[in-house]
Amino acid sequence: MKKSISVLLSVILLFGCASFAYADESADTFNSFGAYKHVFIIGVDGCGAAWEKVDSPNFDRIFADNAYRYNAHTEYITVSAQNWGSILTGVAYDVHKFDNGWCENNERDSSSGNNTVFYYARNQFPDAELVSFNNWSAINHGIIENDLNVNKINRGTDPLVVQSIVNYLNSGNEPTLMFVQLDSVDHAAHTYGGFSDQYYKAAEKADGYLGKIYDAVATNGLMKDSLFIVVADHGETVDGHGGQTVEESSAVLGVAGDSVNKMLLSEDVKTRDVASIVLYSLGIEQPEHMTSVLPEGLFGEKSEKTVEPYKTGLLDGLLDSISSFFLNIVVFFYSIFD
Ligand SMILES: [Zn+2]
Repeated sequence: MKKSISVLLSVILLFGCASFAYADESADTFNSFGAYKHVFIIGVDGCGAAWEKVDSPNFDRIFADNAYRYNAHTEYITVSAQNWGSILTGVAYDVHKFDNGWCENNERDSSSGNNTVFYYARNQFPDAELVSFNNWSAINHGIIENDLNVNKINRGTDPLVVQSIVNYLNSGNEPTLMFVQLDSVDHAAHTYGGFSDQYYKAAEKADGYLGKIYDAVATNGLMKDSLFIVVADHGETVDGHGGQTVEESSAVLGVAGDSVNKMLLSEDVKTRDVASIVLYSLGIEQPEHMTSVLPEGLFGEKSEKTVEPYKTGLLDGLLDSISSFFLNIVVFFYSIFD
């Protein structure tokens, strides 16, 4: 009798240990908090959900095995500064209260509160390279604090912004945080209207810019520990933006990285949530005042993802080289006067 009890106890113990070991193994998922050394945020002004309607082969190849949504929620006022402000600070427009006019004409330092992710990155990494490339310089001017030693580079056209980024990465720079604002899609909407052929053409071109930036990050070996984010600030209507229509308040959001799950981001995801994603991936605790949230299920196991570079035809490649040559001449003159 005693012997059979001890056998029974041994069996229970054995099963207990085995199931504990199993549970322990299944709980041992990859911890993405602080797993990334570099974060790239590519902002495409006014692009809204346009890539859902036009050919966007670069967006497709980069985010097909990652996380994305074409219609993440913007702030309720669908204007640039209001939204870039929230994307970078993780608080609602009502809280930071930036508008275009203010940001074009004022600068601020980190004592003014509602700080951007650059502020938290600088606190955590005092010697890190932090950089922001703008076509519309109001973000570098009025949103990103001027006392953080952020390398702020302003270029007046998207091709110049992209060429400058390619040169910057090819020169061996490895930024901890890079923000980019491309403006040509919004510019096309303001010139020709939101649903015009020219607007959609500009969105297709911006997909090409996205591809060039991604390929510069990848070919310089940075994607192994980089998080690559693309986000728009707002969409457009026939005659501008600023209101609450579905078209204006839907904006693309894509997140790519080796521990990002392949998923459609949930329908309540906000563009503002970019702030939480950036802080989490760099291992920075999110301050309590921020109302951005880390999308549920965004991160999972780490497994190396390879994204094939975009294949250009021989003629396109040749035209690209010629245009790079001339863009570099202009970039050279910009750099003299920087
Ligand atoms: Zn805008």
